Amino acid sequence: MATYEKHFDSALRAAYEAAERYIANLDGRPVAPTESLEALRSRLAKPLAIEGLAPEEVIADLVRDVEGGIMGSASGRFFGWVIGGTLPAAMAADWLTAAWDQNATLYACGPAASIAEEVVGTWLKQLLGLPNRASFALVNGCQLGHVTCLAAARNRLLQEAGWNVECNGLWGAPRLRILAGRQRHGSIDRAARLLGIGYGNIYDLDTDDRGRMRPEALLKALEKERRFRAIVVLQAGEINTGACDPFRDLIPIAKRYDAWVHVDGAFGLWAAASARQRHLVAGMREADSWVTDGHKWLNVPFDCAYAFIAQAEVHRAAMSHRASYLVHSDDARDAIDWNPDWSRRARSFPTYAALRQLGRSGVAELIDRSCQHAHDLVTRIGRLPGAVVLSEAILNQGLVRFLDPTVDASERDHGRWTDEVIRAIAKTGEAFFSGSDWMGRRAMRVSVCNWRTTGQDVERAAIAVERVLNEMNRARGDSLRASGLLVPSDT
Ligand SMILES: *Cc1c(COP(=O)(O)O)cnc(C)c1O
Repeated sequence: MATYEKHFDSALRAAYEAAERYIANLDGRPVAPTESLEALRSRLAKPLAIEGLAPEEVIADLVRDVEGGIMGSASGRFFGWVIGGTLPAAMAADWLTAAWDQNATLYACGPAASIAEEVVGTWLKQLLGLPNRASFALVNGCQLGHVTCLAAARNRLLQEAGWNVECNGLWGAPRLRILAGRQRHGSIDRAARLLGIGYGNIYDLDTDDRGRMRPEALLKALEKERRFRAIVVLQAGEINTGACDPFRDLIPIAKRYDAWVHVDGAFGLWAAASARQRHLVAGMREADSWVTDGHKWLNVPFDCAYAFIAQAEVHRAAMSHRASYLVHSDDARDAIDWNPDWSRRARSFPTYAALRQLGRSGVAELIDRSCQHAHDLVTRIGRLPGAVVLSEAILNQGLVRFLDPTVDASERDHGRWTDEVIRAIAKTGEAFFSGSDWMGRRAMRVSVCNWRTTGQDVERAAIAVERVLNEMNRARGDSLRASGLLVPSDT
């Protein structure tokens, strides 16, 4: 073997073995990171040496130095935020994507990657029930998906107002406004800032107790200031409650006012892939653009998301670029026509592999199973002493909170207590949940997006929560008795 081949061989072997060990031990290792910031920094922050190292040595050091600093989001007992794991075929395809090292911006630079992307786009539209004429882009996340879709919205709305934003920019352009639910994701605000629309032109619309936009609020906002064209941003899957906006009521209202309707469906759009959950997103097909993530619920490795736009020509007008040094294809897909990025990895391969591994029924089953686990977790935890269900699971998201056992505990105390419970659960290493504020109350989110999560994981997590609550309630009782705030018969 030539030296460079030997290096590849030993570095890849070291990486493979470390990955295999990591995955095989997922059930045994703590879900939350165990190492402190100082320790991780002191291990990783080496001076950049003058001389380099052998690749296999670099990998061995890396594996050792990150120990205890890897969040166990790949574990079936990780229920924090909305993150998801990685399907075996998707991970393997991701490794190959690195080996092949395609610059997937042009067909000419990566023909197979470009065709896999065409195929993936078609499959995704079928699974999600989107119009088959819609265009699409494989972006790095919903954040850039919003930028892509809202750039197209900006192009079309201003075009209709006689303004060419691609050429003239926004100086002197007619004003645009964004109407969005109060519970929207912050990535909408960032997209508005990046696109020069500005967050000051986002209007907060009233939502119901689950975070769904109220149709009368939309109607009122559209009616007021009719002279300004509007982008209406709707949501499939509120991050705390999992709730989806009532698209069937909202979209026809928006259309009456010629608004562009964009759907943030980072995880919730996947409801469309399940016969059981589909009713939650009924009517969303009538929107103008949609985004959803691959790296969350589809369990494709980070980073990968999908943006879809009903009017392909508007999408292309907002993104396409031609240059004499590039080789453009007439009959094949050039991602640069659809993506905001220029050079980029071949994101199509891991998604292609994930969808082939699951098949249509596998995707539906993944969605249904996650929803069932979320429901079971919320119900089980909600029954524990001192626990309260704040929001029963819709899709794969629910909320619980924990009450401070002190007799005259305030709302603030319950909030603090809830955060303490969340921290104590993480410390057991048995499960991981994250916190959030919901309608002025602190809550623990229950979010299930990992294909690996099983009924046993749910059981094990619920037992861990129960133990933590028992211990904390007992400790609190002891300390209150010691301080004379609680007489023994109170417990
Ligand atoms: C995660 C999330 C986003 C942002 O998506 P990224 O892929 O992280 O860029 C936007 N909206 C919702 C509802 C989300 O859950």
